[in-house]
Amino acid sequence: MGGSDVANGPPGAPVVHGFPHLDTVRSAITALYRRLSADGVHTYATSLAPADAAFTDRDDLHLGAQRVARSLVQHLHLPEARMIVGFRAMEHAASVELTAGPEYFIELNDRFRTHRRDIGAALAHEVTHVLLHRLGLEFPGTRANEILTDTTTAYLGAGWLLLDAFREDATSRQKLGYLTPEEFGYVLAKRAFAFDEDPSPWFTSPQAYTAYTRGREQALHDLRRPPLTAAGWAGRRRYAKDRRYAQDHPGTSPDPNAAYAFETGDREPRVSFPCPTCHQRIRVPVRGRFTARCGLCRTVLECDT
Ligand SMILES: [Zn+2]
Ligand SMILES: [Zn+2]
Repeated sequence: MGGSDVANGPPGAPVVHGFPHLDTVRSAITALYRRLSADGVHTYATSLAPADAAFTDRDDLHLGAQRVARSLVQHLHLPEARMIVGFRAMEHAASVELTAGPEYFIELNDRFRTHRRDIGAALAHEVTHVLLHRLGLEFPGTRANEILTDTTTAYLGAGWLLLDAFREDATSRQKLGYLTPEEFGYVLAKRAFAFDEDPSPWFTSPQAYTAYTRGREQALHDLRRPPLTAAGWAGRRRYAKDRRYAQDHPGTSPDPNAAYAFETGDREPRVSFPCPTCHQRIRVPVRGRFTARCGLCRTVLECDT
């Protein structure tokens, strides 16, 4: 079976910022809700505690790595899986062999022997690969699959470690995973909204905290798009204009870039838009103010259509 790895940019390479993978990240959240159901996702309502991933230079290297791996296996609800962690010289940060189990071999880059604080982050990504493998959940192509893995790690409560491993100072720079720091922040904020949690006290890296606040702004934007009543004045005005256009020109779309789309014709006009929590599309009648509920994640949505 194929292996999998967590990327670690070449030393000195610039860190990509912003939201270049947002569509795939959102598809990953939808896929997770579809595979686990809303109840299943909510069994991950508590994040991995910082103490469970803590690793100091006084800890024995191998025993400590096994201990953190065990915490992650428990956190991700993999009762029968056993992780065997080794170290070797390699280009990537870490890798795991995806086999039938119950034993899985994880290899960590030799540099973690002396950078133990980030062993939890590297293991979080690899153990999530095992979870997705066991769930039979994958996206086509290595890149999309890695984005699914990072998104799942973050959404299920272990990915704050990956963002916290992002550190820059005058002499060094480190980033783990395939999402940008801001995208990790975005997924963590979406998790924070869904589970009423605040991960900000856990960040030890100032750069990680900044990326979290930027991601959180983007996630807040999802909650304030029309036809949700929380949308701002400009968004609502534009929505009303687009709705008029759709009613006057059935079968055409006024703005293909808008997140919502109108369906007009013989039947009662309807509008579809992505759920701000799980991004599954919701279809509701165009008839003013009412409360809807997402059929997938069950979020209650105040709409004005
Ligand atoms: Zn990976
Ligand atoms: Zn939803």
